[in-house]
Amino acid sequence: MLTIGILAIQGAFIEHEKRLKGLKINTFEIRQLSDLTKDMDGLILPGGESTAMKRLLIDLNMFESLKKRINDGLPTFGICAGLILLAEDIVNEIPHLGLLHISVMRNYYGRQKDSFKTIGKSKNQEIPMTFIRAPKIMSIKKDVIPIAWYNHDIVGVLEGHLLGTTFHPELDRSNVIYEIFIDLIKTNKKTG
Ligand code: GLN
Repeated sequence: MLTIGILAIQGAFIEHEKRLKGLKINTFEIRQLSDLTKDMDGLILPGGESTAMKRLLIDLNMFESLKKRINDGLPTFGICAGLILLAEDIVNEIPHLGLLHISVMRNYYGRQKDSFKTIGKSKNQEIPMTFIRAPKIMSIKKDVIPIAWYNHDIVGVLEGHLLGTTFHPELDRSNVIYEIFIDLIKTNKKTG
């Protein structure tokens, strides 16, 4: 059985626990430094508020250890604020973990569309997508593979062991994005 650690210091982590349980995956919450030393096959950085999350990671002395675990190859899925944490570049702001080779602009979709549900595409299927004060992926570097789209915007990316979406798959019924993450973890277990 696979085990996924979910960063649980801020934001929308409980929804991921519920969804992963439904997919017969073990989960545990990462709340302090010692949790980062536990065995896990994958890691979720949930949505929330990226600057608050970064501040808490520093205050709890978790930032460098988290960065090292991810950098060492732990399959990691960043959702919205989690994707912002992973990004190499944030327009007009200082990046955080800086591991995923994309540029993002925070709160791109603006006030009137603060949060919205729509239909996008992934794996040649139409899937529901929920955006909440979402960032936009402005550009990607050459090793980054787009895996999800909303209109012409890239809203999901994969780069090696890193997966990220600007929408919240935990809030809709489709399992497509979770399946992509689970496949990534399984491939990593075989080769790693
Ligand atoms: N706007 C938030 C940020 O910039 C992200 C929102 C979310 O995770 N739903 O961190």
